[in-house]
Amino acid sequence: MQYGKKYTQKLSLAVAIHLVTSVLATLGLWLGLSTLFANDTVLLVASWAISSGAVISLCTYLIVKTSYKPLHTLADTIIYAGHSSRGGVAPETEKLKIGKEMITALAMQVYDLASMSTQSQTITGTSAASPMQAVTPNVLDRVGLPIFGIDPDQNLTAINRAACEYICVKSEDVLGKPFYDAVKLSFQSEETFEIWLKDRQANALNGVRLWERVRTTDAEGNAIKQFDLVASFSKENQSGTETMLAIYDRTEQYKRDDQEISFVALAVHELRTPLTIMKGYIEVFEDEVGPSLNPELTGFMHKMQASAQQLTAFVGNILNVARVEENQLVLKLQENNWSDILKTAVDDLALRAGVHGKQIELSIADNLPSVAADRISIHEVINNLVDNAIKYSGDSDKIIISTTLNSDGMVETGVRDFGIGIPSAVMPDLFQKFYRSHKSRVQVGGTGLGLYLCKAVVGAHGGNIWVRSKEGEGSIFSFTLQPFDKVAHEQAAGEDGIMRGAHGWIKNHSLNRQ
Ligand code: ADP
Repeated sequence: MQYGKKYTQKLSLAVAIHLVTSVLATLGLWLGLSTLFANDTVLLVASWAISSGAVISLCTYLIVKTSYKPLHTLADTIIYAGHSSRGGVAPETEKLKIGKEMITALAMQVYDLASMSTQSQTITGTSAASPMQAVTPNVLDRVGLPIFGIDPDQNLTAINRAACEYICVKSEDVLGKPFYDAVKLSFQSEETFEIWLKDRQANALNGVRLWERVRTTDAEGNAIKQFDLVASFSKENQSGTETMLAIYDRTEQYKRDDQEISFVALAVHELRTPLTIMKGYIEVFEDEVGPSLNPELTGFMHKMQASAQQLTAFVGNILNVARVEENQLVLKLQENNWSDILKTAVDDLALRAGVHGKQIELSIADNLPSVAADRISIHEVINNLVDNAIKYSGDSDKIIISTTLNSDGMVETGVRDFGIGIPSAVMPDLFQKFYRSHKSRVQVGGTGLGLYLCKAVVGAHGGNIWVRSKEGEGSIFSFTLQPFDKVAHEQAAGEDGIMRGAHGWIKNHSLNRQ
C-alpha cells in the first residue's frame, strides 16, 4: 500500500528527529551544566539527571502524540460517522501532518460503510430515499475534500458538495451519469485511473491507489486544476458504490513547479551559447595538443569533454521539458537507418562512459528496417537512458545496448545495466515528471525529468517505453520505434517528414486517449 509506506516513513522520520533532538539536548545540558557546576559533582549529576529526565519525557510525549494523532483522527471519524445524523463537525484529516493520505482513505471507507448502513435502513423501509440519495449522505458533504463515488459501470453514485464546487457542476446534473463524462482526467503515467480500475475489477476484491500530478482539462485540453487523486476500490459493495475517489488540490503548488521550469528554461537557454563555444575550444584543444599530452593530462581533457557533454544534455533536457509542457516540442519523423543513429550516439557516449569506468557494448540485429525517427530527439532518449545506466550502475562496468525487430514488427531497443536496480513498488512512477526514487535522491544527483522526457518523445514517435528491473541486479529500459513503412502514408506530398507533437499527458478515458 503506497501511502502505508509513506506513513511509516514519515513517522520513522519524526521519531528519529525527536530522538536525535533529545540526545543532543541532554548532551548540551551536560556541557552547559559542567561549565556551571565544574566544582560540585553531586550538584552537577543531580541537576543533569533532573533536566535530562525532563527533556526525555518531553520528547517521549511528543513521539507518542505524533504517532497517536492519526489514530485519534480515525477514531473521531468512526465516532462521527456513527453519529453523523446528529450533526457535528467531521474530523479534518486534511490537517494531519503524518498519515494524511492513509487516514483520509480509511475515513472514506468508514463513510462508505456508514452510507451502506444508511442504505440498508432505506431498503428496510425506514426511509423513502432512493439508493442514490442514500449513498450521497450528508457526512460526505461535511468532508472538505472533493469526493466521488462510482458504481461498477463507472456511473456516479455519489458526489459531495466540495466535489460539485471543484468541478463546477450541480449534483443532480451528474449523478447516475458516466463519471468520465463529468470529470476529464489526464495522468502522467500509463496506469491511468481507468486502466487501474479495469485491472482491479478483473483481478481483485479491493485496492487503493494514489496518483500524483493529475489534472482536469477544459474542452481545448488546457489544464484547469492539478491535484493528487486517491481511489479506493471495494468489489461487491452492497451500497452500489464500488469505488470512492478523493481529490487533494495542488493546483497552486504544481503551477509554481511548472512556472519554475519555465523560469529555469529561460535561464538555461542562456547557457547554450557559452557551452557551444566551450565545446568548440575543447575540440580545437584536443586536435592541436591532444596527441602530445601525457596520460594524466589526456584524462583531464576527457573529463572536461565529458562534463561539457553532460551539461549540454542537461540543458537540452530542461529546454525540452519546458517545450513538452507547453505542447511546443515538435518532432519531424524521417526515414532513418537506426543502426547509424545508434552507432553515432554510442560513439558520443563512449567517452562519458569511459570517464566513469564503464564500457558500452552494442548489439544490432541485421534485419532492421529503417525507422521513423526525429534524429535529435531520439538521440536525447538514448543519451538519457545511457546516462542513467552510467549513474545507477554502481560498481558494475558493463552497459549493453541491443536492438532487434520484435514480434509486433517494431524496432525494439534495450539499454541494460547491472547496477542498483529499481524496487517494483516505484516502477509505475518512474516516468512521471520530477519523480526520483527515494534511494537515488540521496545517492545520485539528478532532476527526475529524463525519463519523463523519454516517454513524451518515444510516445510522439508512436512507440512505447518501459522498464524491467530487479533490485541489486540491474535494469533494462526498452523502447520501440515504428518502421518507416508503417507511417510513410502520413507524409504529405512535397514534405520531407511527418510532424508530430510531444506531450506528457495521457487522458484517462480510452475514447479520448491522445
Ligand atoms: P534522474 O536520473 O535525473 O533522477 P530520470 O527521470 O532519468 O531522472 O530517472 C528517474 C528515476 O528513475 C531516477 O531518479 C532513479 O531513481 C530511477 N532510475 C532511472 N534509471 C535507472 C537505472 N538505470 N537504474 C536504477 N534506477 C534508475
